[in-house]
Amino acid sequence: MIEHNVSLKPYNTFGLNAEAKLLVRINSVAALQEILADDKLMEEERFILGGGSNILLTRDVDGLIIKNEISGIEVVHETDSHVLLRSGAGVVWHELVMHCIGKNHAGIENLSLIPGNVGAAPMQNIGAYGVELKDVFHSLEAVEMSTGNVHSFSNSDCQFGYRESVFKRKLKGQFIISSVTLKLSKQPNINTSYGAIEAELERLGVSEPSIQDVSKAVINIRQSKLPDPKKLGNSGSFFKNPVIPTSQYEQLKRKHPDIPGYSAGEETKLAAGWLIEQCGWKGKIVGNTGSHAQQALVLVNYGNATGVEIFNLSAQIMQSVYDTFGVQLEREVNVY
Ligand code: FAD
Ligand code: NAP
Repeated sequence: MIEHNVSLKPYNTFGLNAEAKLLVRINSVAALQEILADDKLMEEERFILGGGSNILLTRDVDGLIIKNEISGIEVVHETDSHVLLRSGAGVVWHELVMHCIGKNHAGIENLSLIPGNVGAAPMQNIGAYGVELKDVFHSLEAVEMSTGNVHSFSNSDCQFGYRESVFKRKLKGQFIISSVTLKLSKQPNINTSYGAIEAELERLGVSEPSIQDVSKAVINIRQSKLPDPKKLGNSGSFFKNPVIPTSQYEQLKRKHPDIPGYSAGEETKLAAGWLIEQCGWKGKIVGNTGSHAQQALVLVNYGNATGVEIFNLSAQIMQSVYDTFGVQLEREVNVY
């Protein structure tokens, strides 16, 4: 059923007031193919929506929103050491994580509580606390918009990078991801070296953590640091952490001795939140928007912001980081 003139406020975590001319919810590949075969609907501009936690709507959608609600989680292959688990693109990511933890299938516990749906996870190769989707990704199926044909993509086909994939670049807007298959381990390879996990496990009194413990620690840290989009509209980190040549980092370090840098192959990754904070934006309120007081990288909607206001704030922040450090920030959020 096609819905008309739909408010998108409940469907984006920034809580922005935009409207879609048309919206259709699809819960199977066949239903999706039926929509794609409708010549009249295909004349419309199309936009794929998951959980709306990585988008900034700066205008109404004068076209068709395809809301992916394909459900289902199943083990498609099993060995003594691994399972291949396929999930529908419309499954909520954190529900998949909880499902896996309940079954002792290890590999995505560090990615607990990331908002959004499974189908969007490959888009930017979601990552947190030292784990990225690509570390456990086996394959995905996606429907080609122009033909309705189903294609399979392997890990290397997806060309995953830091918050990147082929679907954000070369194949942008061409495929609708319908399912994702992960290769998860029956023997956990616990990874607690990153950020505040070890300190949180110590606080919880855990010395030999299980995947359940790691997940709990990550959930606690995230709940204490990040604004809950249900209470304060946001889209998580608005910018990517910039990766720059190590020689440029060393020059910056001479001028700013405290600048954090993390080795990223032959380059160095900076912490965008630190750069933004140094420029005086952390906690600053500008009209209806601002940079969050506890996490400068997160831009928030204080209630009545428009997408354009948030976009303009992001441009000011990018300019001041560039003027101060000579580093160009890149938006992580998909601007529409
Ligand atoms: P949407 O916002 O609905 O869509 C994002 C993009 O993907 C859009 O361009 C959309 O067109 C496209 N898309 C969506 N579904 C499909 C599909 N099935 N097929 C093709 N294209 C599709 N991200 C991280 O990587 N790590 C984090 O730790 C993290 N923490 C966050 C914390 C908070 C509080 C918030 C609000 C966001 C956070 N994010 C994080 C960002 C976000 O949760 C992820 O990028 C998530 O994968 C987006 O999923 P979604 O379903 O909401 O995507
Ligand atoms: P943090 O621990 O305060 O660290 C700040 C930044 O430094 C992070 O962005 C992280 O980069 C980097 N970093 C920290 N320890 C590192 C290490 N040992 N090796 C390499 N890089 C390291 O970060 P935070 O803001 O609380 O976030 C914690 C984790 O959740 C991070 O992985 C972050 O990406 C993720 N997160 C993502 C979003 C989003 O919307 N994308 C939102 C909230 C949290 P990385 O970002 O590259 O990991």
